[in-house]
Amino acid sequence: MIEFRGVQKHFGHFHVLKDIHLHIEEGEVVVIIGPSGSGKSTLLRCINRLETITEGELVVSGIPLHQKKVDINLFRRDIGMVFQHFNLYPHKKVIDNITLAPMKVRKQPKEQAAATAMKYLTRVGIADKADSYPSQLSGGQQQRVAIARGLAMEPKIMLFDEPTSALDPEMIGEVLDVMRSLAHNGMTMVVVTHEMGFAREVADRVIFMDEGRIVEEANATEFFDNPREERAQQFLSRLI
Ligand code: ADP
Ligand code: MG
Repeated sequence: MIEFRGVQKHFGHFHVLKDIHLHIEEGEVVVIIGPSGSGKSTLLRCINRLETITEGELVVSGIPLHQKKVDINLFRRDIGMVFQHFNLYPHKKVIDNITLAPMKVRKQPKEQAAATAMKYLTRVGIADKADSYPSQLSGGQQQRVAIARGLAMEPKIMLFDEPTSALDPEMIGEVLDVMRSLAHNGMTMVVVTHEMGFAREVADRVIFMDEGRIVEEANATEFFDNPREERAQQFLSRLI
């Protein structure tokens, strides 16, 4: 589903991703961890081409993103992304936040888009908030709306960039529950998070990044119980 081969990414003279090799299968849940500034967000943003790579090859859902002639809009439909800040439209009702992209990008009729929106609002447990405005919702509820919005495009891959980092502690669990259920239903997911309990429980694989490189890659149990690399050991020991 996702394949990085020798990917390099520069911002001007700054070398942010260094020789990334990464292979993610359909239905896999991969968690990326690492210190701030290590390139986690940039790696995620390359997958839906919010960033273009400087060198190497990157194939996502069968599409070679390193080639110039890529229909980005066609491609982006297949990928949902959830950010730390939910980026909902404040002046639109919850349901209209969700139907917007399916109507515009997928040309769905309003009734069909609304039915799909309700299906995913139900899935994330807030169907009763369809007619509310984002400001009337808690942070956890707003993030669940953002997840429903991503799912309404019926993507093949969901990317999450620190989806719980801006939430009050009591709201983190409800968002992680939704993500856990998505994972169990077979969604291909790449998740940047500092929630190590979630990573240990849900991830098929953990990728540890430092200074733009993948320093360690292991299954979750192996990584948390027995990290091989010193930098990973230090990172984990600081969290406990
Ligand atoms: P992380 O998500 O692991 O904290 P990022 O991928 O956001 O790391 O950033 C990695 C490095 O790249 C940081 O040093 C950051 O300052 C730099 N960086 C990120 N985006 C840009 C950009 N658009 N222009 C220049 N430098 C950037
Ligand atoms: Mg980041």
